[in-house]
Amino acid sequence: MRTQRAFLRFSKPLFLCVVTILVFVSLAVWSEISSWQSQISRTNAYLEQTSQAIAQHTDDVIEVVRQPLLSLLLQIQNRNNTVLQSIELVQTMRELVKTSRYLRSLAYLGPDGVLIESTTDYFSAGVDLSERSYFKFHKSSQDMAPRIDGPFKGPLSNEWFITLSQRFNDADGHFAGVLVATIDVYQFVNFFKGFGFPGQAAFAMIDGDGRILIRSPVNETAMGSSIANTDFYRFGLLKQPKGNYDYISPFDGSEKLSGYYKSNATHITALVAVQRQDILWYWIKIARTRWLCSLAAVLAAALLAIRLRRNWSIARSAQLIIAAREAEFRLIANASSDLIEKLDDYGVREYVSAASKNVLEIEAKDIVGTSVLEGHDAEAQQYWTEALANIASGSSIERLIYRKRKKNGDMAWLESVVTRVRSFDVGSGMVSVTRDVTSQRLLQEELDRLANTDELTQLFNKRYFNGQLAKKLDEAQSNGTPLCLLLIDVDKFKLFNDSYGHLPGDNCLKAIAAEIKAAIRPGVDIAARCGGEELAVLLPGLDDEAARAIGENIRQRISDLAIPHQRNLPWGHVTVSIGMAMLSKQGHETVETFFVKADHCLYSAKNSGRNRLVQGAADSPTASAVA
Ligand code: GH3
Ligand code: MG
Ligand code: MG
Repeated sequence: MRTQRAFLRFSKPLFLCVVTILVFVSLAVWSEISSWQSQISRTNAYLEQTSQAIAQHTDDVIEVVRQPLLSLLLQIQNRNNTVLQSIELVQTMRELVKTSRYLRSLAYLGPDGVLIESTTDYFSAGVDLSERSYFKFHKSSQDMAPRIDGPFKGPLSNEWFITLSQRFNDADGHFAGVLVATIDVYQFVNFFKGFGFPGQAAFAMIDGDGRILIRSPVNETAMGSSIANTDFYRFGLLKQPKGNYDYISPFDGSEKLSGYYKSNATHITALVAVQRQDILWYWIKIARTRWLCSLAAVLAAALLAIRLRRNWSIARSAQLIIAAREAEFRLIANASSDLIEKLDDYGVREYVSAASKNVLEIEAKDIVGTSVLEGHDAEAQQYWTEALANIASGSSIERLIYRKRKKNGDMAWLESVVTRVRSFDVGSGMVSVTRDVTSQRLLQEELDRLANTDELTQLFNKRYFNGQLAKKLDEAQSNGTPLCLLLIDVDKFKLFNDSYGHLPGDNCLKAIAAEIKAAIRPGVDIAARCGGEELAVLLPGLDDEAARAIGENIRQRISDLAIPHQRNLPWGHVTVSIGMAMLSKQGHETVETFFVKADHCLYSAKNSGRNRLVQGAADSPTASAVA
C-alpha cells in the first residue's frame, strides 16, 4: 500500500511532465511541418515567376534578333547579285552582328543549301549546309515565320548556340534560300544564374516539339534531346502552359521542384528546377536559427524554473527552521518559571508563556494581543513607557523593577528584562522576561535597613545620616526650603554609666531613641545615632518655630521619662542638651559648616546649664529654652 502511494506520488508529476513534453514536441513538429510546406509553396511560386521572367526574356531576345533578319531579307530581295552588292551585304551583316547584343553570327544560304555569305570566318562561302534541320524545314515549308532550331555546337569554338532562321523567296515566289542568325545559349544561362537559386538549380528551354534547346548546367546528352515522351511533357506542359511540376531528373536522378512557363509568341518553354534536397537544406539553415532561439528560450525557462524551485525550497526550509525554532522557543518558554513574552515593536504581546498565571495571576491566552502597559499602576506604567521608548530609540536591553498589587492585596515586586530582537528566527520586536522578585526585594530592603541602622537604638547610623544630611542640605538650598539640624547629647552620661552600669546605660539610650522617634514625623524627619550618647535629627521643610517645637518636645519627653540619674543635678533623672541650627537663608552652607553651627549650639546648651535647647546663628548661639 505504501509502495503504491509512493509510486503514485512519484508517477503523477512524471506523467504530467511526459504529457507536457509530448504536447510541446507535437506542437513543434506541427509548426515545422507547416513551415516546410510554406517553404515549398514559396519556392514553387518563385520558380514559376522566374520561369515566366526567363520566357519573356527569351521572347524579347528572339524579337530583337528577328529585326536584323528582316532588314537583311529586304536587302537580299532587292539586289541584283552584283559583286558590289555582295560586299555591301557582308558589311551590313557584320555591322548588324556587331551592334546586336544577342546576335552571334548571321549567314545567308542559297536555295541549294550552300553558304553564300557569313559573318563567321570559319564558315567560308561554298560550305554545304543543306542537311541542317532549319534548311530542310524552310525548303519544304511555305511558312514564312522565323524558325528556332538547335542546339548546335560550333565546329571550332565548341560553344552551344541556337538558330533563328528565315526562309526567303525569289520574285516568282519560289524558295530562294535561308537567312540564319545564331544566338549564344550562355547569355540565357547567365540571365538565369542572376536569380541566385540555392544549390544546384537547373534551367532548360524547350521548344514547341519538346526538344531541349538549352540546359544549364550544360549537359552534352541533354542538349538537343527530346522530352516529348516524358510525363512532364505529356501531363504537365501539354495540359497547362504554366505551373509547377515535381519530377525525378532523368539526368542525375535527383528529386526536383520546378516551375515552367510556355511563351505564346515563340512556343518556347522556360523551365526552372531546384533540387528538393537543396531547398530542404536552405530551409534547415533558416529553421536552425529559429530552433536555436527556441532551444535557448527553453533552456532559459528551464534554468529559471530550477532557480525559482531552488529559491522556493530555500524559503521553505527557512520557514521550517523558523517554525522549529519557534516551537523550541515556546517549549523552553513554557517550561520556564519566568514569564516570557514576545512583543511587537509597539509592546503588544504576540506570545505569552504559561508562567503568566503565576507571575501576573492571569491566563496567557487572556492577555495575548494586549499591551504590556496595561494592568499596571501609574508608576509601573511610567517605567514601561520609558523602557519601550528607549528600545525604540536604539537601546538593546532595558531592565525595570516595579510593584504590582496581587489579588490578595499583597504587594509583589516584579523585574522585567526587555531585549530588542532583530533576528532571522523570531523576526523583529522584543522579548520580555519577567520574574517575581518580591522575596529578593524584601531581603535586599532588610539588608539595606540593617546597613543603615544603629543596632542599639534602631535609629539610622552615622554613615546613613551623613549621606542624608548632604542630600537634604542640597535639596533645601536648591529649592530655598528650610532645614533644621538638632544635635542631642545625654547629660553627664559617663556618670550614669559609672553609677548604674553600662547595660542600664544602653537601655537608657534605647529609651531616649524611642522618644525621639515618637516625637518626629515618620518618613520625613531623620533621626540617627552619631556616636556614643550623641544623637541627631534632621527636620526638613519646617520653619524655626515648628522645628524648635519638635526639639523641645524631644527634650521634654526624655525628661518626662524620669530615668533616675542622681548625679545629674539638679534634676536627678536623665536629661539631654540640644543644639539647634537652621540653614542660613543667605550664603552657601556646607555639611561641615552646618554641622559645626549645630555643635556650637549644643556646646552653648551644655555650658549654659544643660537640659535645654539652644538655637542660634553660626556666630551667636542663643538659648531658647531652659527647663
Ligand atoms: P556631658 O554632660 O558633658 O555630656 O557629660 P558626659 O559624661 O555625658 O560626657 P562624656 O562625653 O565625657 O561622656 C560620655 C560617656 O557616654 C562616655 C561613655 O561612658 C558613655 N557612653 C558612650 N557610648 C555608650 C554606650 O554605647 N553605652 C553606654 N552605656 N555608655 C556609653
Ligand atoms: Mg557626649
Ligand atoms: Mg553627654
